[in-house]
Amino acid sequence: MLRVLRVRNQLLTALHAAPCLHHPFRPYSRDPSTQGSVEETQSSVLGKRWKDTAETVIIGGGCIGVSLAYHLAKAGMKDVVLLEKSELTAGSTWHAAGLTTYFHPGINLKKIHYYSIRLYEDLEEETGQAVGFHTPGSIRIASTPTRVDELKYQMTRGRWHPNPQYLIGPEKVRELFPLLNMDKVLSGLYNPGDGHIDPYSLTMALAAGARKYGAQLYFPASVTNLTPLIDGTWNVETPQGTIRANRIVNATGFWAREVGKLIGFEHPLIPVHHQYVVTATIPEVKALKKELPVLRDLEGSYYLRQERDGLLFGPYEAREKMRLQESWVTEGVPPGFGKELFESDLDRIMEHVEAAMEMVPVLKKADIINIVSGPITYSPDILPMAGPHQGVQNYWVAIGFGYGIVHAGGIGKFLSDWIMGGEPPFDLIELDPNRYGKWTTTHYTALKARESYGFNNIVGYPKEERFGGRPTERVSGIYDVLKTKCSMGFHAGWEQPHWFYKPGDDVGYKPSFRRTNWFEPVRREYYQVMEKVGVIDLTPFGKFTVKGRDAVNFLDHVFANTLPKVGFTNISHMLTPRGRVYAELTVSHLLPGEFLLVTGSGSELHDLRWLEEAAVRNQHNVEIANVTDAVGVLGIAGPHSRDVLQKLTAVDLSDASFKFLQSKKISIAGLPVTAIRISYTGELGWELYHRREDTLKLYNSIMDAGQEHGIDNFGTYAMNALRLEKAFRAWGAEMNCDTNPLEAGLQHFIRLNKPADFIGKQALQRIKKEGLKRKLVCLTMETENVDPEGNESVWYHGKVIGNTTSGTYSYSTSKSLAFAYVPTRLSTVGQKVEVELLGKNYPAIVIQEPLVLTEPTRNRMKKQTGGTNL
Ligand SMILES: Cc1cc2nc3c(=O)[nH]c(=O)nc-3n(C[C@H](O)[C@H](O)[C@H](O)COP(=O)(O)OP(=O)(O)OC[C@H]3O[C@@H](n4cnc5c(N)ncnc54)[C@H](O)[C@@H]3O)c2cc1C
Repeated sequence: MLRVLRVRNQLLTALHAAPCLHHPFRPYSRDPSTQGSVEETQSSVLGKRWKDTAETVIIGGGCIGVSLAYHLAKAGMKDVVLLEKSELTAGSTWHAAGLTTYFHPGINLKKIHYYSIRLYEDLEEETGQAVGFHTPGSIRIASTPTRVDELKYQMTRGRWHPNPQYLIGPEKVRELFPLLNMDKVLSGLYNPGDGHIDPYSLTMALAAGARKYGAQLYFPASVTNLTPLIDGTWNVETPQGTIRANRIVNATGFWAREVGKLIGFEHPLIPVHHQYVVTATIPEVKALKKELPVLRDLEGSYYLRQERDGLLFGPYEAREKMRLQESWVTEGVPPGFGKELFESDLDRIMEHVEAAMEMVPVLKKADIINIVSGPITYSPDILPMAGPHQGVQNYWVAIGFGYGIVHAGGIGKFLSDWIMGGEPPFDLIELDPNRYGKWTTTHYTALKARESYGFNNIVGYPKEERFGGRPTERVSGIYDVLKTKCSMGFHAGWEQPHWFYKPGDDVGYKPSFRRTNWFEPVRREYYQVMEKVGVIDLTPFGKFTVKGRDAVNFLDHVFANTLPKVGFTNISHMLTPRGRVYAELTVSHLLPGEFLLVTGSGSELHDLRWLEEAAVRNQHNVEIANVTDAVGVLGIAGPHSRDVLQKLTAVDLSDASFKFLQSKKISIAGLPVTAIRISYTGELGWELYHRREDTLKLYNSIMDAGQEHGIDNFGTYAMNALRLEKAFRAWGAEMNCDTNPLEAGLQHFIRLNKPADFIGKQALQRIKKEGLKRKLVCLTMETENVDPEGNESVWYHGKVIGNTTSGTYSYSTSKSLAFAYVPTRLSTVGQKVEVELLGKNYPAIVIQEPLVLTEPTRNRMKKQTGGTNL
């Protein structure tokens, strides 16, 4: 400790004199040949023919931009140009700690990590450039029972991916990391293929590969202006000349906001200070026979790895202590900032240093020889933004990388496949740049980045909620009335009730891997809807209007369903050219040639971009307007919903006059409303679309009118239980870009024989002909105080054969219920499988869906059987 403090004091004295220090240190590679050659680091513009046109211009020569250049060129794209303002790696890349891991708590981001690591293993052979890749493995340490649960939760989410991962006991942890103080260690998550790479050499190897396959890498060549041209191409201006590009990609790390501003975007990014400390040789480390695995102490919130014969240690401070570089957002990045670092600050990380010394006692005797403090670009939710940007043509981004070294390979491949193939190779909605919008202000971004950094190692519970920066400007007209009565969830900037409190309830957000405080209140809301009538705030839906000369032809081309008749609504899917489900929308044909399209809150701009691009590509004359912020939505559902609404309107709401899936502009309580007879609960109900400023008045009128029927609120958790019992699929869980609509059981919504050549039709015909390899099934199981969430492993005869997609407790049958993908041969009703929940396999059975019939079906069957209740 004393030594650390002494060194710290010496260092602080030195560093105070030089606030922006040029820092010669970068993590080592044991192989001297990985140091970049002179040829690679010097200017590559001089003496080269400047290209005036390019298919793709990538702006930024960090690991991300260079990886994309490598992958595009390798995939055969001609005319790939990368422009770098100073030299390759001169942003965050050169000084990164270089950690690589197969682990990611998300689902498809595991694929990105997997691809990167596999690529890095082979890159030296392919390019002749050593990359200093070490794979001693890694262990995430659990030192509390909750952490053990978390690791078990992650095991079931990880098993259906190809990389090996093991939950190991203390004995094995000690064997792998003999320098550990085992006092608190309960278990570890072991990833044998993890390790670290020299980020500089990695980028140089990717650059060598990119050049080998024909990409041009120019530096110094700073992009100073970007001008969109009428045909969708871009003029990219640099002091060296202008290039006309069919597509541009912003990969400029912590300068990404500045490049975005050239075309009027305020990308929600902010640099944070991240530090790591390197020690001198430690005799006990030197004496080891093999390299130590990378250690991640989740409670201490730091990573630690071997660096030569010493250790490298990187903490994540709590949000109150971490440091944002806000001035770079308000005033811009200082023009001269290149291969510099921030002033280090050991005081800020002292509690993590102490935690590390307790966990790895040899650190107490270690001398610090280096502290690196550099900028990492954070987005509000810490995840990068990768893909085409809505609102402008042919502008792609690959920005906001907090862990760009491990992401570089996979993201380069992902974006290259997307650009070359016209659709994402797999679903990565969590990285969609269009998940943010106007509501993502700089203030919000700063608060969220602070939270995200501080929460780097917090327990990752299912149904996690984070409260930083809330509420945004996106609150519905009843937010103030409801906010103290319920536990709110956050959806694309909106606040939406998850579940409601009653006297005696244990209130608030109490996350758990098991059933928790909302379990019984949700049962109450479930029966409220099944037996009486409930109201839900659905304002967060994304809403678009489509009209114009070609509206019908346009929508017939983008949707796989036939268009609803005027005055009716249906569920329609936008498919990708490969026949995957890009989006699911509710389509209402309000007036001849005028449509209202409704999508989930998380996919508003994601869907809008797809629609806008399809309209441009096909030269359809349509007006697409995003009315999300202008329109409020209330849902009313349950057997008494008709009686309640009928009190407020002169329009006949009887089954004969207002049929299931009919949509009408009517007046409710004197307010203009587009009423659609539809409910995601599967019960009798309406969705009421209205002016957002009318929400409170409409809500109060409905609640007053419903008093005699015992009306009450319900939230999205009850809605989820209701929809799963009815076997309604959810976009983003049961269907996405990884699934085709036939395996997802959506055939009722797909019209392969409709005349229009809709996007994905041919692919789907082929898929149908070839037969399905897997199918979505409904499973029930009896568990102990834990329910499936989605993404758990499904087992059969000792092997993982599939995965759940979402789940719930079924309040009507007192069992757990899940959707799951299983091989077609195991998809028949009655098939027995197992679902792994918190380390235990529970027997599950494929059931005939739905578990509970929908109200329209019950009604129809009642009529067919002459009124007998079923
Ligand atoms: C201390 C520290 C430790 C880290 N450790 C790890 C780790 O262990 N593992 C991990 O995965 N990640 C780690 N990271 C994060 C990682 O460094 C970044 O995520 C990654 O380097 C981002 O790469 P990038 O290509 O997006 O951006 P950058 O590397 O910043 O590259 C952007 C490039 O764009 C160029 N540019 C900017 N503006 C223009 C313009 N107008 N015209 C032309 N060019 C321009 C810049 O000069 C720069 O070279 C660490 C970061 C820090 C600070």
